[in-house]
Amino acid sequence: MTFWQKIKMGLARFMEGRHGADNLGMFTLISGLVISLLSSFTGIPLLSFIGLALYVVTLFRMLSRNQEKRFAENRKYIELTSGWKKKSSQFVKRMKNRKDYKYFKCPNCKVLLRLKRGCGEKEITCVRCQHKFKQKA
Ligand SMILES: [Zn+2]
Repeated sequence: MTFWQKIKMGLARFMEGRHGADNLGMFTLISGLVISLLSSFTGIPLLSFIGLALYVVTLFRMLSRNQEKRFAENRKYIELTSGWKKKSSQFVKRMKNRKDYKYFKCPNCKVLLRLKRGCGEKEITCVRCQHKFKQKA
């Protein structure tokens, strides 16, 4: 066995039963890195402390043996960010298609709807609340 294989085996044995990396872990690691970089540019000591605290949290979660609690934390993080991720991907899609479609909200329930541009004024029936209104595109 080579030296690197021994290191790899030792690390695998060390990480056995531990939580390891997940979405929340990546988030705390990257935000810790960004905040540390910011602190080195601005020289604000509080930022360097926050960056260090995020590294400690990341390490603690990766090495934790309490899998159940770490999975619950990660699930909560995914739940909290999924709404924001969906909104931002919808925004990107809207920006891509803005030449072909006009986007607008239903005046009744505020759901986002679209009409092909150049089709003139049409009577719209909302897909969610069945409210009828006129819209130009
Ligand atoms: Zn509606």
